[in-house]
Amino acid sequence: MASAGTDGAPVDALRAALPPGAVLTDPASTEAYRHDWTRLPDAGFPLAVVRAGSAEDVRAAVAWAAEHRVPVVPRGAGTSLAGGATAVDGCLVLSTERMTGVEIDPATRTAVVEPGALNAAVKDAAAAHGLWYPPDPGSFRISTIGGNVATDAGGICCVKYGVTRDYVLGLDVVLADGRLVSLGGRTVKDVAGLPLLELFVGNEGTLGVITRVVLRLIPLPSPAATLVAYFDGPRDAARAVVAMGARVRPSMLELMDSAVIDAVEAFSPMGLDRDAGALLIGQSDAPGAARSVEVAGMAECCEQAGARSVFATDDPAEGDLFLEARRAAGPAISARGSVLAEDICVPVDQLPTAMERIEAVAREHRTEIPVVAHAGDGNLHPALVFPPGDADARRRAEEAFAAILRVALECGGTITGEHGVGRTKRAALPAQLGEDVMELGQRVRGALDPLGILNPGVLW
Ligand SMILES: Cc1cc2nc3c(=O)[nH]c(=O)nc-3n(C[C@H](O)[C@H](O)[C@H](O)COP(=O)(O)OP(=O)(O)OC[C@H]3O[C@@H](n4cnc5c(N)ncnc54)[C@H](O)[C@@H]3O)c2cc1C
Repeated sequence: MASAGTDGAPVDALRAALPPGAVLTDPASTEAYRHDWTRLPDAGFPLAVVRAGSAEDVRAAVAWAAEHRVPVVPRGAGTSLAGGATAVDGCLVLSTERMTGVEIDPATRTAVVEPGALNAAVKDAAAAHGLWYPPDPGSFRISTIGGNVATDAGGICCVKYGVTRDYVLGLDVVLADGRLVSLGGRTVKDVAGLPLLELFVGNEGTLGVITRVVLRLIPLPSPAATLVAYFDGPRDAARAVVAMGARVRPSMLELMDSAVIDAVEAFSPMGLDRDAGALLIGQSDAPGAARSVEVAGMAECCEQAGARSVFATDDPAEGDLFLEARRAAGPAISARGSVLAEDICVPVDQLPTAMERIEAVAREHRTEIPVVAHAGDGNLHPALVFPPGDADARRRAEEAFAAILRVALECGGTITGEHGVGRTKRAALPAQLGEDVMELGQRVRGALDPLGILNPGVLW
């Protein structure tokens, strides 16, 4: 007898279309697929979870969902900080976690990757051939390439090396009607037809399910020299970043305010200066003598912006310690309580204003808002921290969240630089895009997914 979900969909037909064990319906097993890292309180209950092992499995699952009008939530590792991989009631969660193949072709400097491969696995496989896959979200050890492509993930090295989009040469995608299409390929140049490949990078699983990715690789960079500067406050540090824009091309430029320095030291003592108001960590991987020229340029910008101390090292191991301090910021902030994660991005010259206005939002809404930033990109991650279970504090944090999105737009920026709109920022999307662009997006989505089954509730 066919088992049925809330909408009467015959799950037995799904089971029959897929290899044994690929479909989970037992609530004890599907529970792990309801939430992503955002931990939205209103996450739904899936009808089923498919753990796809191949593109054919994905195709069969989406075709079944289209036939039975079941919503599909594509899922990589579930590290979304925007609720993008959160289940809705009665949906099919389509997990790519078992599709982990990675093949490197040194001759064409490409990697052919299945969507469930971790970003770190691609980096490791490329490094074995002296090659590098640069995009490095803070989650690179735990997030998948499929998720990275679907969100156009950024990270620390974007300031010099760009974002995920800059490395995607080809994609295989299962469309909402179950057809599998190939876009792009293994060539760096390809202008045949409409640039549809670009449409499938950063759409957050709303236009298709990615089943294969061709990535561009580059040679491994030179070891980096590191600059560390402490300031009295984040505004001075931000002014140093603005000054650097016209002078140097760092391979990393990250900012931590005093609350983040404090949180990191409390979480895992690293000897950071807890009396400082802000910390800037910059790196240069320029070849040869250019590296020290670039570090000296960064140091001068910091001194002119009023840095209280500046320190530089050529020792990669010493530099890595500061990078680890930066990478510890996320877990350290999470350890302080419940967190609403922001991801605004402003033109770099607006960084000092944005930092100042976020401080004002924190005061006005009586919410703790530590800020860590991919400062060289103008990409700020204010984290709104509140005690778990405190409804009033949560309400104030939510109001502060909306206020910071307004700050981003008023500074000429965007409500999301790299995490995506997901479910958490969709209310603010019309204010950024305007009526005509919203309508254009809805037409594109409607043309590719007329039944509206792919990740409903994400974007709009
Ligand atoms: C500690 C931490 C640090 C982070 N740092 C960064 C950072 O520096 N930069 C950054 O950009 N992000 C960062 N993130 C956010 C997150 O890791 C990224 O958005 C990442 O790209 C998500 O990958 P995932 O495999 O976990 O995807 P998921 O969370 O599973 O999904 C993310 C989105 O992609 C869609 N999706 C997933 N797989 C597919 C597929 N095969 N086809 C179509 N759609 C798909 C989902 O539906 C969802 O909308 C961080 C997260 C954490 C927890």
